Amino acid sequence: MSVNESLARNCYHPADDAHIELRQLLSDEQAALLEKVCPAGLFQRDANGRVKVHVEGCLECGCCRLIAGSNILQSWRYPLSGAGITLRFG
Ligand code: SF4
Repeated sequence: MSVNESLARNCYHPADDAHIELRQLLSDEQAALLEKVCPAGLFQRDANGRVKVHVEGCLECGCCRLIAGSNILQSWRYPLSGAGITLRFG
């Protein structure tokens, strides 16, 4: 099973508020780091080079929090109860 097939088996319950927020001005190095660390590929640069995070598909693994830290992330928390990912196995 490919990674994308495996990710597609998960069930997501979007929250009203984003549980991950980025700092406003990120360098190219910081943007590249975010793109590299997220196993779900949720950090992407737009046409202007500004980084966006698509939190709806978050695996809540914490990799971005551990590796990027507070210089890059404004905030990171788990989604509120009832929102976020539900893992499916098998
Ligand atoms: S917690 Fe994991 S899946 Fe979610 S944005 Fe960070 S690295 Fe990606």
